[in-house]
Amino acid sequence: MQHVVTRPTPPFSSADGRLTVHQVPAWVDNLIWLIVCNETGETAVVDGPEAGPVLDYCAAHGLRLTTILNTHTHGDHIGINHDLQRRGKLEGLVVVGPSRRAADVPGLTRGVDDGDTARVGAVEGRVMLTEGHIDGHVSYVFGDLLLCGDTLFAGGCGRLFDGPPAKMHDSLRRLAALPEPTRVCCAHEYTQDNLRFAWSLEPGNEALAERIRDAWALRAEGGCTVPSTIGLERATNPFLRGNAPELLASLRAAVPGVPLDEPVEVFAATRRLKDLGDYKQRGDEGLPLS
Ligand SMILES: [Zn+2]
Repeated sequence: MQHVVTRPTPPFSSADGRLTVHQVPAWVDNLIWLIVCNETGETAVVDGPEAGPVLDYCAAHGLRLTTILNTHTHGDHIGINHDLQRRGKLEGLVVVGPSRRAADVPGLTRGVDDGDTARVGAVEGRVMLTEGHIDGHVSYVFGDLLLCGDTLFAGGCGRLFDGPPAKMHDSLRRLAALPEPTRVCCAHEYTQDNLRFAWSLEPGNEALAERIRDAWALRAEGGCTVPSTIGLERATNPFLRGNAPELLASLRAAVPGVPLDEPVEVFAATRRLKDLGDYKQRGDEGLPLS
């Protein structure tokens, strides 16, 4: 099956110019990220379902893969570790991943947890524990680059496989506190589905309307909506907008009787409503596309 993205986001630099980021689509909607240290040429890959597209991309662009940064242990994120192992190419790589799930990360050489550091060549980043989607999930922050796996998505957030909602709520709250220009490099192109749900809750949000128009135009040409920014997420992502009056009113109408007094209750109700998927029946009907 063809990838939903046929025109990947072109390579871009971190704000300080020390890193170059490349996007490699894989499977149907996975987004693999390659981070190159411009000083040493060392290259880290962040997750991936398989190795083929990454090895091809590195060969075509003269990149030297030295490091894997794993965010979590779902098969479409550590599949690349297994695949490299099968090909005899895992040995010698630095493999950084969640220490809380160390046994499940093939080839792990360095387990990390909240507050630890991680390196790509000469550039040091930091690790945030961002659980909620699955236990042990970590995110990596290199300056204005956030590699957040399946925690925060463009316009949405990951499903709560391990939960409880309080874990994801806390993770998202801390990610949302990063500086607004921070680039959100998540692991899937799910944005249109996420924004359809967002619009079902906040049809009066002008920033959301503009984002929907931008995303639909980009996707119509096979482009990728990722990365977004923390600023855009704060303005439009329903899972970061528990204080928005229109969103709260929509929730109250959609899930009458469910307690919405605490921020974590609002988050849990929002996540549950999205999982129910009723908004999908409307398709693009009612979206502010013109
Ligand atoms: Zn996952």
